[in-house]
Amino acid sequence: MECDQCEGSAVVHVEYAGVHRCEDHFRESVESRIRRRVREDNLLPEDASPEDPETWVVGLSGGKDSVVLTTVLHETFARDPRVELVALSIHEGIEGYRDESLAACEDLAADLGLRHEVVSYDSEFDVRMDGVVERDPEDMSACGYCGVFRRDVLARHARGLGADKLLTGHNLDDEAQSAMMNFLSGDISQMSQHFDASLGPFPAAEAGGERPETGVRDPVAADPEAGSFVPRAKPLRDVPEKEVALYARLRNLPTHMAECPHASGAYRGEIRDLLLELEERHPGTRHAVMAGYEELAGLAAADRDGAGPAGGGDRGDCERCGEPTHGEVCRACQLLEALGGA
Ligand code: SF4
Repeated sequence: MECDQCEGSAVVHVEYAGVHRCEDHFRESVESRIRRRVREDNLLPEDASPEDPETWVVGLSGGKDSVVLTTVLHETFARDPRVELVALSIHEGIEGYRDESLAACEDLAADLGLRHEVVSYDSEFDVRMDGVVERDPEDMSACGYCGVFRRDVLARHARGLGADKLLTGHNLDDEAQSAMMNFLSGDISQMSQHFDASLGPFPAAEAGGERPETGVRDPVAADPEAGSFVPRAKPLRDVPEKEVALYARLRNLPTHMAECPHASGAYRGEIRDLLLELEERHPGTRHAVMAGYEELAGLAAADRDGAGPAGGGDRGDCERCGEPTHGEVCRACQLLEALGGA
C-alpha cells in the first residue's frame, strides 16, 4: 500500500484519519502532534528567555511513552535556550523489572546528553514495592500504593529541581481510559481537578494567572494552598498507544517493554478493552471521548470556581511531611504509617 502523501510504502494505516503513511510521514505526524500540543497548551510562556528559561522535568520510566516524549522534546528544544529539560526516574524497588528499565533511561539520557536524576522509594520512604506487596496492610492493589508514592516523589523532586512544569508520557489511550472512568464513576470533582492539574491549556501571560475563560486551566485552583505546586502537562496525549509503540520501534529507541510483575488495575483493563473494541468498530472514538471530556471537565472546573457542585474543598499542608493535602495527614504518610514506615 502506498503512502497517501508520497509514493513511499505505507508502514501504517491510520483508520481514524483514513490515511496510509510511510515511515517518514508517520514519524513527522507523531512529532507534529506533540509539538502542536505543546503550543496549544501554552507550555512555553511568552516571557521565557535565555536569561530566565523554563525548566521542564520529564518523568522518564524507560517505557515507550516516556522515551518517545523525552526524545521528541529534546529534539524540539535542544537548541532553544528558553527551555531546559531534566529527566527524572523513579526506582520503586521491584526486583528484576525496574533495574532493566532504568538501564534504558540511562542509555537514553546519555545519548541525548540530558541531566538525569534517579530517586527510589527506598531512599525516600524506606520501603520497596516488593515488600509493600507482601505486607499489603490496606488490602489494596500494588498500583494503589505505588501511584500515591510516585505522585509524591515526582512532585517533591520536580520542585527540588526547580521545575516550572512536570511532563509525563500519558498517551491518548491512557487519557481516554481515565476520562471514561471519571464519566462512569460520575465524579465531577475528579474531572475538574484532572482538568486544572494536567489537562487544560495554561492561561496566556496576559491573563495574569487568573482563569480568563472557561476551557483554560487554573493551576492554582488545582492546589490553592501550595505555592510550591508544580503544574503537570501531557504533551503525548493526542497520540494513540499503538502509534507511540510503532514510532519507538521504527526509530529503534532504547525502551523497556516488560510488564511490571505487580501490575493490577482490572477495572482500567476492562475500560481499555471496551475502548479498543469501540475504536475498531467506530474509528475516532478515543478522540471524540477526549474532546467531549475536556470540554465538560473545563466547565466543571469553572463551575467549581463559583463554588458550584464540583467544589474542590479546602487544602492545606500535611502535618507530617508538609505536602499539600485535603486532610491533616496526606495519603502517602497514611500509607507509610500503615506499613510501619512512619
Ligand atoms: Fe507501580 Fe503498578 Fe506501575 Fe508496577 S504497574 S510500577 S506497581 S504503578
